[in-house]
Amino acid sequence: MIRNPVPWPGGARCAASLTLDMDAESILYVAQPERAHRMVAAASMLRYGPDVAVPRILDTYAHYGIRQTFFVPGWCAERYPYAVEAMLRAGHEVSAHGYLHEPPNTLGDEDERRCLERAMDALVRIMGEKPAGWRAPVYQFSHRSAALLIEHGFAYDASLMGDDVPYLIDTPRGRLLELPSQWGMDDWPPFLHSSELGLEMPIQSAARAWEGWWEEFEAMCEYGGLWVPVWHPFLSGRLARWRTTHRMIGRMLETGRVWFAPMREIAAHVQRCITDGSWVPRIDAYPPAENTSRRP
Ligand code: ZN
Repeated sequence: MIRNPVPWPGGARCAASLTLDMDAESILYVAQPERAHRMVAAASMLRYGPDVAVPRILDTYAHYGIRQTFFVPGWCAERYPYAVEAMLRAGHEVSAHGYLHEPPNTLGDEDERRCLERAMDALVRIMGEKPAGWRAPVYQFSHRSAALLIEHGFAYDASLMGDDVPYLIDTPRGRLLELPSQWGMDDWPPFLHSSELGLEMPIQSAARAWEGWWEEFEAMCEYGGLWVPVWHPFLSGRLARWRTTHRMIGRMLETGRVWFAPMREIAAHVQRCITDGSWVPRIDAYPPAENTSRRP
């Protein structure tokens, strides 16, 4: 069903990276700058991410001996340096996710560039090196984003939903590697409810959310895909939910079919396969060329 499955390392049938976007209160300050300081309960819900959930998540990763990827807005790295330092100390990857979680496709040309550079600068100050990856806040990648990411030397993007396996985005500036996911792998639909944030969804149990995520995992293992949850510490790191996830990671590892890795290592593996000719990626163009019939 996947026409060009990736040859994953060690004979794994599927690559997996549990990506966690540590947004904290950036989503309050970007959406409601006038009111954010008065939204104490909403802020407490979001601060649960860096203060309570991240240490718990790191314990699980240490328990299983896996390294994963966190996407952190620059503002959050400045506000919660201890959370980012703990991620780095344990060998995890920290990638960029806006400065104050600004959706790029709502910004003008100069503002998109300024926010990207400010996001990178904040991470460089704490990491001592440039982040390898980017995820646009709320997946709101703009028509300029791919070229900007290439210009700034990013190894991969993780904002788009165009395939089950990695693919390349062709731009006039070069080609960007995309490591895709999709809304069905996101934890906002099953877990986020906040009347103050104007997001009122029926909250699901962790077991119900995992029904879908496990179904995706089995399919990706069967056909050689890439399994990338897009989760948030303040949602998925809640006690009962993370208890379930802790158990499910154990079940995934027991299958012996999955390669858990940080996104930058998946990107590096895919680039090696492209270079040695063992895998041929699909190439998408963004923005799409006009008046050109596109081959699927
Ligand atoms: Zn986010």
